[in-house]
Amino acid sequence: MSSRLWTHPISLISVSIAHGDQFSLFLNSTMQSRFPALTSLTFTDLGQGSCDCERTEPFRSIYEPIRAPPLGLFPVMSSLTLIRECFTPRIVSDLLGPGSHPWPQLEVLALRPRVADAENPYAALQDVVRWKRSQEEPLPSFKLSPNLFERQFWVENGVNVGLLENDDGFKGRVP
Ligand SMILES: [Zn+2]
Repeated sequence: MSSRLWTHPISLISVSIAHGDQFSLFLNSTMQSRFPALTSLTFTDLGQGSCDCERTEPFRSIYEPIRAPPLGLFPVMSSLTLIRECFTPRIVSDLLGPGSHPWPQLEVLALRPRVADAENPYAALQDVVRWKRSQEEPLPSFKLSPNLFERQFWVENGVNVGLLENDDGFKGRVP
């Protein structure tokens, strides 16, 4: 196998019609690639209706936990956006939640979960706030869809949150 390291000068990647388990595989990849200039990564699932991945075997067990922030692939990535992605709570928890490794480069985490799935991502984000504060590590700003944005917890804990508009952070039409 070649040991050649591929480097890509692009600064932004937006992946559409992808599921959360594909995102975890992507971040866990040991491919000989590197994106040293990439600052923004967006994963979007524009599928209509609900996604049953988190509720249905064998899909539920297909998710592979993300081992660490993707500093090897994306050493300067500062913005991560997940739109309607299944497994959003697990992704958030793996990358930033209790037991996660430091990821000070991440400045903005933008989330628009499916409407019916808002509570679990909210709980995962609360855990992120508590964990980062306990570790005295920097907390990224959150850009959140209205169902996550309008929560008293952010105010009470001094979290920097903004509203994620429909057409903010990705190309496409989401109902
Ligand atoms: Zn899915």
